[in-house]
Amino acid sequence: MTSNKSADYDAIIVGAGFGGIRSLWELTQLGLTMKCFEAGSDVGGAWYWNRYPGARTDSEAWVYALNFAPELRDEWSYSERYPSQKEVQGYLGRVADRFDLRKHIEFNTRVAAAYYSDDDKIWTITTANGVMTTARYFLPATGPLSVAKELPFSGLKSYKGEWYQASSWPKQKIDFRGKRIAVVGTGATGVQIIPKLAPDAKELTVFQRTPNYVLPGRNYSIDEHQSGEIKESYDATWNRARLHSSGLAMTPSGKMVEDMPHADSIKQTLDSGWESGGFHFQFETLDDLFTNQKSNDIASEYIRQKIRAIVKDTETAEMLCPKHPFLSKRPPCGHFYYEAFNRPNVKLVDISRDDIEIYEKGIRTGSGMEHEFDMIIFALGFDAATGALSEMDVKGSQGKSLRSFWAKRLETFAGVLVPGFPNMFPVCGPHVPFGNMPVVLDIQVNWIGKTLRYMEERKLVKIDVTEKAVDAWASHLDAAFGATLFAESAKASRAWFVGANIPDKAAGVLFYFGGVPTWTAWLDKESNTAWASMDFSVRAEPEVVGKDILDQRSSVKVT
Ligand code: NAP
Repeated sequence: MTSNKSADYDAIIVGAGFGGIRSLWELTQLGLTMKCFEAGSDVGGAWYWNRYPGARTDSEAWVYALNFAPELRDEWSYSERYPSQKEVQGYLGRVADRFDLRKHIEFNTRVAAAYYSDDDKIWTITTANGVMTTARYFLPATGPLSVAKELPFSGLKSYKGEWYQASSWPKQKIDFRGKRIAVVGTGATGVQIIPKLAPDAKELTVFQRTPNYVLPGRNYSIDEHQSGEIKESYDATWNRARLHSSGLAMTPSGKMVEDMPHADSIKQTLDSGWESGGFHFQFETLDDLFTNQKSNDIASEYIRQKIRAIVKDTETAEMLCPKHPFLSKRPPCGHFYYEAFNRPNVKLVDISRDDIEIYEKGIRTGSGMEHEFDMIIFALGFDAATGALSEMDVKGSQGKSLRSFWAKRLETFAGVLVPGFPNMFPVCGPHVPFGNMPVVLDIQVNWIGKTLRYMEERKLVKIDVTEKAVDAWASHLDAAFGATLFAESAKASRAWFVGANIPDKAAGVLFYFGGVPTWTAWLDKESNTAWASMDFSVRAEPEVVGKDILDQRSSVKVT
């Protein structure tokens, strides 16, 4: 059944971070009308909220950008290899201004619900203050890491000191000087905060449940000369990133551990990755780190030896050495992280076998040790990939609830469509490649744009994906993850990319581990075969019913 009821807008986007801004631009090119709701008071998304001390990218500046117009390259330069939170948020603000995108955004507005009407083929989006807006297309660009893990400490209410959560850091300046500070959490966030606070705090105590393999970032300032080079090689860099498994401008070394009989040459290879800094260690040293136990064991032990070499106190060094295989958890990128533990005012507390609770003066461990603090900082991570989409009340065709549907089985088609949720295009939600999101979302939103153009030109009012295509994708996704050697150890070590960091979350892989190029091929296959895995509906006007489309795509399923 079709209806001619018109919507307020062609599209509604939720979120004005990288994904939302990129989507706004894409839809502008199609001449669609749109509205974007953003909970924050400015653009930025994760870069708006995560303004904690030390926040900066873990991806290199040249691939942490938007790439839809030459002006973006010509008019903006980042000043550091890993741009700071302030700079990234400023960049997104500049982009929004430069392309006049702010006029579409309603700030300080959280979306509470999104319901699809089968009769009208329209989405109704309801904000937290009860205002309803309708659109034909719904693009939740709510981010893969935007809903913080709930703080599980019942005693927090009684705590008399200051406390902050990294993922919703206040805008005002916080004074750390002379304070006894605790940091709970040693993932990528905690790892950035700790060395930043160490020089100012009177005492800094780090509560670590699981140690991580922290790669040295080796940040530096980008001078005018390098900035020019980045601009000149911009297209080549992005092409390289698109061909890289994780969307980074890095090139596999072509070396496998079994082909390297000499320990010295393996060490030299690992040394070169370690010295290059950041993710070069995992992507440009041994190509079989993700799949070969021996290779992974060698790299894991290599990092442990580095930790032992940097951290002077042997007991602390051992506590900082991870036991799980490298890559079972997403490795943080550190900036003098291990070095911070050599300061006399920094202490590490191992809570791997000793839960913590908050009491009025600080933190009490399960074994009864009490630690008094003036300030506690929580960096406990996120309900990744599905968290933000499940937080909203999203109901698709026939009232199907996204939250309940995904609680049973996380189904999508390549992360771009969800069966039973017509005309909904999640941007950087679950099942997109695990990697550098600006590159991933550029490919994704480009594909969404192509799909919408196809629909608009043919007056198609509804797109949904077939179960067959969803099943094929699910098998492929599982096989890709199963091929990694950390398919099991990621769950055991509570990695967020399998949902194992959130109590009661169905553990299963939340991202695609088959690499950006293969994922892109799945998307291209659809656009090159007139979206053969999709079901479409045609607008009701008699003169356009189906014929044009059926002429073009014999396999099209028109309802
Ligand atoms: P995370 O990696 O999930 O780390 C959370 C930390 O909190 C872990 O050390 C965890 O311990 C600990 N924790 C959780 N619940 C706890 C509890 N009840 N008691 C004690 N400790 C607890 O989260 P994250 O550091 O926010 O990083 C998440 C992801 O965000 C990163 O991997 C990265 O992709 C992204 N991120 C990126 C950047 C960047 O690009 N610059 C910066 C920050 C974050 P267990 O490990 O034992 O669970």
